[in-house]
Amino acid sequence: MTEDETYSASEIDSLLHQGVDKADIGYIIIDKAGRVLVWNKWMEQASGKRKDQVLNFPIAEIFPEIRDNRLEEAIANALERGMAGLLSAKLHRAPPLSLQRVDGSAAPLTNPVIILRPLVGVEPGHHGCLIQIIDETTSATREKTLRAQAITLRAQEEQLRTLFEAINDTVLLIDENGRIVALNDTACIRLGGKKATMLGRPLLELLPNSNALTYRRHLDALTASGTPQRFEDTLGDDTYLISMYPVPNGKGAIQRIAVLASDITERKVFEKRIFHLAHHDTLTGLPNRAYLLDRVEHAIAVAGRMNRRLGLAFLDLDHFKAVNDTLGHDSGDALLKTVAGKLTSAVRASDTVARMGGDEFVILLEPAGHNDDIARMMGRILKALDLQWGADNEAIRVTTSVGIAIFPDNGNDARLLMKAADTAMYAAKSEGRNRFQFFSEEMTTQTLLRLHLERDIRDAIHKGEFELYYQPKICFESNTTCGAEALIRWQHPERGQVAPSEFIPLAEETGIIVEIGAWVIEAVCKQIAEWIKAGRTPVSVAINISPKQLFSGNFVTLFTDCFEKYQVPLKFVQIEITESTVMADSTKAALILSRLRELGVSIAIDDFGTGYSSLSHLSRLPIDVIKIDRSFVAGLADRSENLEIINAVVSLGRSLKMIVIAEGIETDNDVGVLTDACCHLGQGYLFAKPMPASDLEHWLDIRGHLGDCWGCTRHSSSNRDSQNHMLKLCQ
Ligand code: C2E
Ligand code: MG
Ligand code: MG
Repeated sequence: MTEDETYSASEIDSLLHQGVDKADIGYIIIDKAGRVLVWNKWMEQASGKRKDQVLNFPIAEIFPEIRDNRLEEAIANALERGMAGLLSAKLHRAPPLSLQRVDGSAAPLTNPVIILRPLVGVEPGHHGCLIQIIDETTSATREKTLRAQAITLRAQEEQLRTLFEAINDTVLLIDENGRIVALNDTACIRLGGKKATMLGRPLLELLPNSNALTYRRHLDALTASGTPQRFEDTLGDDTYLISMYPVPNGKGAIQRIAVLASDITERKVFEKRIFHLAHHDTLTGLPNRAYLLDRVEHAIAVAGRMNRRLGLAFLDLDHFKAVNDTLGHDSGDALLKTVAGKLTSAVRASDTVARMGGDEFVILLEPAGHNDDIARMMGRILKALDLQWGADNEAIRVTTSVGIAIFPDNGNDARLLMKAADTAMYAAKSEGRNRFQFFSEEMTTQTLLRLHLERDIRDAIHKGEFELYYQPKICFESNTTCGAEALIRWQHPERGQVAPSEFIPLAEETGIIVEIGAWVIEAVCKQIAEWIKAGRTPVSVAINISPKQLFSGNFVTLFTDCFEKYQVPLKFVQIEITESTVMADSTKAALILSRLRELGVSIAIDDFGTGYSSLSHLSRLPIDVIKIDRSFVAGLADRSENLEIINAVVSLGRSLKMIVIAEGIETDNDVGVLTDACCHLGQGYLFAKPMPASDLEHWLDIRGHLGDCWGCTRHSSSNRDSQNHMLKLCQ
């Protein structure tokens, strides 16, 4: 020990005082007159009297109860004769001392042990006495309490042990070296050994290598961070949820690690089932849209890192609606299942086939080869999906249109790629279906326009943006109005009036023409009914009917029901259909047209000359009127062959007892040529442009009209008579 480390007397004195104060027994030192010199903390707490309240007071004043008893005698012996003394309650020699609690209430020290030690002073005659007071009551109680606590702890330990063993999960305790220090019965069963042989063995040695690696990683993480670990682990067919908890040693350091393994196999099976249900289509069992999008995102991330191409093929069945409508939904479902099966067996194991809903499927080609390879694969798929569906007599040919987009060329996220593939699919459809088409940039604007237009058309019907215009038809011979053609107009809120040529072809392609057509029929009925109600001679109206509409299954019923609803006789209406419409399915067309004609509707072939122009074919159909296409009239002045065509059509029409009308008449010269050719009727800007119903009424009021269903009534009361009249005129 060096000089600096030597403690001074006063330092030692201070330590001594602290020690005395911290002692768990009472220390009192009195001088030879019995006055208190030292009064430690224990005494302060036990008696409720602070040091400054007792110092220099005689001990007999502080504890009056010691007067005239053995303690006073013992103190006197110690002070005067230097005799040590021991007084204890058990020996009936120590008086109870009136100690009190901090709150002031009395807590008599009933069982004190008092030890007296005479002290010799430094100065002669300055002796004193040390009185030590031990509270036997408290120490006995403490002992009892400790004993009781030990019993409780043992009971608790017993309970915990029972619990530990009863737990169905694996529970292990390992030490800092990874050795097992405790394990329950379940752990023994799982690890396949006896408890005695496993205690002390490193846990990781008992696990298969791959599992041990995972455990190692998590144990290291737990030791480094002190935070509990949770992970899933599989052992054989079973899955476990492993939890690792640090068990501290009371000073904060990790002494043990508790390892719990809960068998979650059943939960996993259940989770898998739910996952499957949420991510697969119930009908075909294929991944659904949400799952596919996930897979595509993931595939893009991988392909991006590895510099690989991906392919996304969007498939849409052609004529699926016809299968559903004609053969029923069960047959439609069976078709979808068949398609799913064929697609799954046509792709590679690494590809994903998904059903997007309805009759739409997607194949994720992962990875995608060259376009040539993809094309070959798509060719095979188209062949496999070219099906005759349904029984022989009612079989429908089902084909498929496919659009293909490539990552990274056509998009770098799932949404863009899907959109590109969808766009390409639309292009394949409009190219004639039953084909595949790779995406190209030019397609986008075109398709977007189409998509917007399609949506807008649907809205337009509901918002009442469509309106009918009427263009009069004039009889050359009588110069009277013999009817009007209803022509649809779209009052677009932003684009203004949109001509039918801008939306009718698309509406036809998408099928929405059926809805538009139904609206037109109803609007015409309403209009004629209004004219009848107003007491006007109704103008007979020609309605343009699109092929989809004509062949839509219940066209005749819809048409006639509407007229019945508004109580408008069918003789006031004519339908205009094009040659190509009729020729698309002439047998079916003949049936529908005959039915309508029987009911009084007259039939006109529109745009004649632009299609098959096969009058021999047409002669087998119930046709009343032929409308020579506008393109022949427009070129009358300069092209002599047009005049020849018109002459030929008129004479052929006449020979088949049909009325011939020319459309697109813009000049008097046209009228001259056409009347020379004995054409019956004319329609064109020269007479009137198509106009709203109210303008037509006004126009008719000024011009006057004779009105009837389709021909000129001045000469006869029936169509056939009218024809005869015209025929006579030109013979
Ligand atoms: P369309 O049935 O051949 O109708 C005659 C077209 O020629 C009308 O065009 C008419 O405005 C126009 N036109 C008439 N006279 C002249 C003329 O002197 N000069 C010129 N340059 N044009 C004349 P619009 O109204 O634009 O209709 C075009 C086509 O749209 C119609 O040809 C018809 O095929 C179709 N369409 C119109 N309304 C409907 C409808 O309600 N349903 C269906 N399915 N198609 C309709
Ligand atoms: Mg027409
Ligand atoms: Mg026409």
